[in-house]
Amino acid sequence: MDRKKISIIGSTGSIGTQALEVIEKLNGKFEIIALAGGSNTELLKKQAEKFKPKYICHNSTNQLNVSGAKILHGAEGLEEICSNKENDIILVACSGKIGLKPTLTAIKNGINIALANKETLVMAGDIVMSEAAKHGVKILPVDSEHSAIHQCIKDIKFVDKLIITASGGPFLHKNIDDMKKATVEEALHHPRWNMGRKITVDSATLMNKGLEIIEAHHLFGFDYDDIEVVIHPQSVVHSAVEYKDGSVVAQLGLPSMHIPIQYAITYPERLEGIKSKSFSFAEIARLDFEKPDFEKFPSVRLAYEAGRTGGTATVCLNAANEEAVFAFLDGKIKLYDIYTIVNKMMAEHKVIKTPDIEEIFAVDSEIRTGTKELINSRITL
Ligand code: MG
Repeated sequence: MDRKKISIIGSTGSIGTQALEVIEKLNGKFEIIALAGGSNTELLKKQAEKFKPKYICHNSTNQLNVSGAKILHGAEGLEEICSNKENDIILVACSGKIGLKPTLTAIKNGINIALANKETLVMAGDIVMSEAAKHGVKILPVDSEHSAIHQCIKDIKFVDKLIITASGGPFLHKNIDDMKKATVEEALHHPRWNMGRKITVDSATLMNKGLEIIEAHHLFGFDYDDIEVVIHPQSVVHSAVEYKDGSVVAQLGLPSMHIPIQYAITYPERLEGIKSKSFSFAEIARLDFEKPDFEKFPSVRLAYEAGRTGGTATVCLNAANEEAVFAFLDGKIKLYDIYTIVNKMMAEHKVIKTPDIEEIFAVDSEIRTGTKELINSRITL
């Protein structure tokens, strides 16, 4: 692989730090143009001293000085990084809607994207994918499920169906009553993956899978009827595709985010870099699969509904869910209230069918305000 020039948006987060481990292991294959982090300036400084980017962007009130690097700040800094055509690829690994505008800027500048940020496609999938097609830009998925599908698809026109696996999270075999009593601690105890707090709660409610269905629809251009979810507690089969002749191709591996990150940033090549422990079917011994219980986990149904409605319905789903998850993490509501709140916000939302970016952001803040009001009114009841 020729040396690639890369920038990382969200370098201090879980995906960002693992990406830097991959880049370090692939010694000499990457040159880092920019590192952007949020408020953890201490870690950002350490990363910058080690990887020597030309630009560093942060979002803190702290002073940050690293010799040889230009210091940028906030959303404006991200715009500057994403319009720098020196980049061959930008890894968008920040969480939240802050990822959306810089991603679009990079696409318009013809820069390929390794995408780990969920909101980009959930909020604005139609706009992002059509801009990517217009500018000949590749959107390379980092999420393990979408990476798996990407690895399984050889010729997309012969694929009939996408099969997305879900571990089922910590409540898979608990009954609804136990789930209703779930504490924050229980919800944060994910059996397979070690991730940030918000996404871990989303995995417990299966909303994470719901958002992934919407992302898969945009990334691969499949109808919602042709995207299926299956529970697979071992998280060894990362996802699969079914071809028109009934043949199923799945991607397997031990759970590790290094591999999908590495695949995305080195694509179309597959380099050794960080290698997971050698795979043994005999050691794994069994792989289980079951149908998701839409009664117990209504979020998958809600996501299909929002996806099929399209337009700002998925913006509403995402914003209401995120605010509800924050309220749950703050101990303001119970786990099951997340569904009730998202459901109510979606039922009341007047969908804009083909919104532009400004309308998307307006709906996002409107839904967030509405969700917070709803949560507060429930608390005072
Ligand atoms: Mg995933």
